[in-house]
Amino acid sequence: MSEVKFFSGENIPLEMHKVRIIQKLNLVPIERRLEAMTEAGNNTFLLKNRDVFLDMLTDSGVNAMSDKQLAAMMEADDSYAGSETFTKLENKMIEIFGKKYFLPAHQGRAAENIISQIFVKPGSVVPMNYHFTTTKAHIVINGGSIEEIPIDEAFQINSKDLFKGNMDIDKLNAVIEKYGAENVPFVRLEAGTNLIGGQPFSLKNMQEVREVCAKHGILILLDASLLSDNLYFIKTREEQCKEMSIREITSALSDLSDIIYFSARKLGSARGGAICTNDEKIYLKIREFLPLYEGFLTYGGMSVREMEAMTVGLEETMDENMINQGPQFIAFMTEELLKKGVPVVTPPGGLGCHLNALEFVDHIPQNQYPAGALASALFIVSGVRGMERGTLSEQRDENGKETFSNMELLRLAMPRRVFTLSQVKYAVDRIGWLYENRKLIGGLKFIEEPKILRFFFGRLGTVSDWQTQLVNKFREDFGDSL
Ligand SMILES: *Cc1c(COP(=O)(O)O)cnc(C)c1O
Repeated sequence: MSEVKFFSGENIPLEMHKVRIIQKLNLVPIERRLEAMTEAGNNTFLLKNRDVFLDMLTDSGVNAMSDKQLAAMMEADDSYAGSETFTKLENKMIEIFGKKYFLPAHQGRAAENIISQIFVKPGSVVPMNYHFTTTKAHIVINGGSIEEIPIDEAFQINSKDLFKGNMDIDKLNAVIEKYGAENVPFVRLEAGTNLIGGQPFSLKNMQEVREVCAKHGILILLDASLLSDNLYFIKTREEQCKEMSIREITSALSDLSDIIYFSARKLGSARGGAICTNDEKIYLKIREFLPLYEGFLTYGGMSVREMEAMTVGLEETMDENMINQGPQFIAFMTEELLKKGVPVVTPPGGLGCHLNALEFVDHIPQNQYPAGALASALFIVSGVRGMERGTLSEQRDENGKETFSNMELLRLAMPRRVFTLSQVKYAVDRIGWLYENRKLIGGLKFIEEPKILRFFFGRLGTVSDWQTQLVNKFREDFGDSL
């Protein structure tokens, strides 16, 4: 790994790219930000981009593309069937993952839909290191259920464990014993485990999972959506992999998987999805569904331009200097926040930096949505848009009672190659100020509460006039600054 040392001894991540196309950002005054947050019902999903300064909502479909990706998009071969563009992507997939068969899908959840329809039946149980929202929904809708069996460290906000995304092998054995191997259609491993803070699993862990699965004849499904971060962490954190190239690590993980799928909105920095396998029977089954849900076999719902971008994006994922920027920026942000005493998830993962709202605003009870309140407050004082990952993102039970989440996080996603270090420093500065003034932050309550996926469309109000007080304190400390 080519880390650049600074003579000053400072530990600063250095961008190994330069910016050649820019998009102007708006930083509107705090009074307008308060108004915008109120209009959005204190829900960051409902904000308009024109009011947002740094959009840290997600990494999905918003990673920066390279000059080579953009150039490739211009030579896309547009035809319904048999396009040259498809052949290029297929060859790249085969080259990188070493699987014989590649099937395109329009995004990650589309792959999950087809795979779940084929493999999941009423009574099926799918063990996984952790769920992703759409994955779980597709398994459940087909009559199955999930068993989340990460190692216990996964739920420790602060830990020294470098692979909090690992699966607990004893628990895996126990689940198979309890339900019977015949009811386990596959074991799912998610790279860069999204909902527990972008935490990786190790190659060693996957080898152990493979051993168990091989004994019982159970398939391994790899969700590779956040693979690029996981590859970087295996390379930099796992002793036995230090001398391996990113390409070799990818191929080792691929050899341990029976089916790989991913969202190309993340992996490959384009917009699309993919499935690959070596098994002809599985390939033929999936192929039947493709024209039904996705499109013809040689585009699968993707535009040819996105397919060209994906081909190049996948190749660039094999370059350590292309995939290191996200994790290094996230580590920098996490460490700077720790210096200020701000509670964050450690060790730093991929995807983004996660603030621990249970500690940040420990005076806000869980039924007033501490992580949602923190998201609202941070936007007001900085224009930074994050995503609540806590009780607000859960659903009430059948009796209408809140199901409290075991973690209350504010996720600040770091779209790859999008932000500069000074923008990250600005976010750190405002979060630091907010932490000093955290007692001013108050709770939220629903005004409009949809029954399903309420976090997308729900609207909330404040339990007091705390937002006005926050704005007044900001003006006291910052004068007429934006
Ligand atoms: C985003 C994501 C998905 C779903 O992909 P979409 O392209 O958004 O449909 C599945 N799994 C993981 C781990 C993801 O991060």
